[in-house]
Amino acid sequence: MSAEHSDNFPWLTPFSKILDLENASDFSNKSVMGGLDKFLIRWSESLNRFCSLNNLSDDFCSPIYTGLSRDQRAGWVDKWNSVIKNELNIDRNGQILETEIISSRGVTLPPADVPTVVSERFKQPPAGLKINSPIDRLKGVDTKLSARFKRLDVSTVKDLLYLFPRRHLDYGNVVKIADLVLDSECTVVGNIWEARQISLGQKGRLKATEAIIGDDTGNIKVVWFGQGYLANSLKANATIAISGKPEIYRGNRTFQSPEYELVYPGREQIHTGRAVPVYPLTEGINGRNMRRITKQALDNWLGGLDDPLPRDILERHKLPGLQYAVNQAHYPDNSDSWHASRRRLAFDELLVLQLAVLQRRRHRNLTMSGVPLNADSLVVNKFIDSLPFPLTNAQQRCVLEILENISTGTPPMNRLLQGDVGSGKTVVVLIALLVAISAGYQGGLMVPTEVLAEQHFQTIASLLGAVVDSRVNNVVTVNPAGFSKPISVGLLTGSTPAKVRREITSRASDGSLDLLIGTHTLIQSGIDLPNLALAVMDEQHRFGVIQRSELRQQGLENPHSLVLSATPIPRTLSLTLYGDLDISTLDELPPGRQPIPTRFVESDNRDIAYGFLRRQIEEGRQGFIICPLINESESIDAKAATDEFERLSKEIYPDLSLALLHGRMTSKEKDRVMRVFRDGQVDILVSTSVVEVGIDVPNASVMMIEGADRFGLSQLHQFRGRVGRGEHKSYCILLSDDPSDLAKARLSKLEQFNDGFKLAEADLELRGPGDFFGTRQSGLPNLKMAHLSDRDLLADARKEANVLLEKDPDLSQEVHRLLAEEVSCFLDQASSEFS
Ligand code: ADP
Ligand code: MG
Repeated sequence: MSAEHSDNFPWLTPFSKILDLENASDFSNKSVMGGLDKFLIRWSESLNRFCSLNNLSDDFCSPIYTGLSRDQRAGWVDKWNSVIKNELNIDRNGQILETEIISSRGVTLPPADVPTVVSERFKQPPAGLKINSPIDRLKGVDTKLSARFKRLDVSTVKDLLYLFPRRHLDYGNVVKIADLVLDSECTVVGNIWEARQISLGQKGRLKATEAIIGDDTGNIKVVWFGQGYLANSLKANATIAISGKPEIYRGNRTFQSPEYELVYPGREQIHTGRAVPVYPLTEGINGRNMRRITKQALDNWLGGLDDPLPRDILERHKLPGLQYAVNQAHYPDNSDSWHASRRRLAFDELLVLQLAVLQRRRHRNLTMSGVPLNADSLVVNKFIDSLPFPLTNAQQRCVLEILENISTGTPPMNRLLQGDVGSGKTVVVLIALLVAISAGYQGGLMVPTEVLAEQHFQTIASLLGAVVDSRVNNVVTVNPAGFSKPISVGLLTGSTPAKVRREITSRASDGSLDLLIGTHTLIQSGIDLPNLALAVMDEQHRFGVIQRSELRQQGLENPHSLVLSATPIPRTLSLTLYGDLDISTLDELPPGRQPIPTRFVESDNRDIAYGFLRRQIEEGRQGFIICPLINESESIDAKAATDEFERLSKEIYPDLSLALLHGRMTSKEKDRVMRVFRDGQVDILVSTSVVEVGIDVPNASVMMIEGADRFGLSQLHQFRGRVGRGEHKSYCILLSDDPSDLAKARLSKLEQFNDGFKLAEADLELRGPGDFFGTRQSGLPNLKMAHLSDRDLLADARKEANVLLEKDPDLSQEVHRLLAEEVSCFLDQASSEFS
């Protein structure tokens, strides 16, 4: 087609196809939706101009076609055909014009009104199949694709329906080409005038597809870089929707690699022209694939998703039905309907969480009995007197809370002791353990790493008046004041030699070992402590809701349980996370603690920071350098940390001794590295965030954190807590390449506050709870839709959970069957995350 004509009279090409179609359909006037005259009216101005230029009579372009007889139409088409064929010199092989193209500008987008909540709206799964059928039952999903979906934790169609978009692209703003606004997200719908493959780049190696799209207000160029193959599927004269941001490219308004979608009547748009979902993806599944597959599930299976919530709860809290909510979570009609849907789905999550937590609590309260441990005040007081310092008020309070709690056996204690780094949790714990031991029982202390286990072993021995080197001894016997007989403390880790291990195992099981300190895995792998009455888990910063309890199921039927956490959590959060735990809080540090000066250093001044660290090392100290959190993937972070380690070793500190620590190392390797660092054989430990788990290196005085803006304040505070553990004045240096103002404001809180609680609250305020813990390793329950700041919703869910359990404690009634299934599914997931 001549460029001149298509530019001046964009209707020419489609019109000639219409004429062909009329010919082929015996002039039935069906080639244009609503009749051919519509086309003439739409283009009347341009048609008139065309007619007068070509000296054609007005009859040609008047909208009279509908009123003509069959033969008159045939004549009219014939005349037009000859005019156009002269004007156009186009190759018209092949392509058959689809009627819908003509109505391009009339493409109707999905209605914006919120449909009422009727489940019949959604189709039932194909005959014989259930919503939890494997996803390969979907069209186009084969075994290979199923395997890829597994990586996203999607195995069943139901899983897929619950794979919610991370966000939506706002492509609902449909505009005319003439009205396009540069750099703002929108959608245009138009005809493809032409689409061809082009070559770009120095040697033309980069293939791209270039297309001209037009509507009745103008034309625009579209380029898809690196997608030369697209040209084949974008046939001229097809109707296409383009979503993206128009930009200036080589002097012209252009869409660069936008979303696109061919438009047919009766087929819903899923990539353009609406709020378009953006899904989590994995290798081998791209965004368009994902949308197509998810949409298929929504369109053809959603009716099979049963709503577990009883009607009265829905009504009381004005929640939409489940099928509607799930559908809207993927393809919202508008932002109100999305919010309503999120609220509904979040409520479900919180309700299930609260049911699990409360059910467990009720169960324990009603049925579990442990041993009452009555404190011998002589033992307790003598031990406290023997300490080199008086207890803080907070320590005294927490000790009282714990001792009171374990003095009654029914139900056994299930408590969280939270306190900032250095708040003195160990002493509090030891007092409780001594009470258990003096009553003739055994105690257990479980920690996340071997190095920590060794550390606790030595600390506890020394608090009990013995000096022990964990590298030489695994059992120590001590004589604490007030005890009538000596007590023995053992250390058991993966590195304990087999012979010693056998000895400890046998002493543990014959009851002659009073206190066993070790790593979780060991305790879990069947060490027998027949008289275990108090189990303490030092979790440092890891959170978990329910899975804890599994760790205390050896020995006596129901030992008391105490979990330690170093990240203070605000009350609402603790309700969610630890709804079944009681909480004691150490909200006070022992006196005389030196604050750790903390400075944010612009990255231009990184050399100054490196120099500062070097001078500290020259004075005999050690330091940490934390690498930025790049990604949720440990392997990517490990790679980045390895690169940074190489760079620092070669370029910055070639004369010093550096070691590397990251999450892809085995726990044996990690422990080895931590040990050599603790023992002073290494000057600088370069690490990813795994170092956070409390290691005590009194000689370390500098904590340098790269990419500090990527961590949560609480997490940064944990890092900082790794220094200042000894007598040396210690420092924390925060680096960031290009922090936003918000990030700078956050980091300044760290300069300002040394108090973990204040920081936790500031963090929650500034970043919102989603990021509060830093996601990885947090052990947070898997909340997809609920935010930890959904306080009202959480309160509602908790109330309903209580009411439900009051009526039906085991959720055994038929109306609660689905809910009971959700709860047990949640519990399975929670425990498998920790196995
Ligand atoms: P965390 O709560 O981080 O586990 P620790 O129990 O390791 O803290 O205690 C940190 C340090 O503070 C230890 O050296 C401990 O001996 C010391 N400590 C504990 N309680 C007090 C106190 N009341 N007064 C002074 N120092 C204390
Ligand atoms: Mg500790």
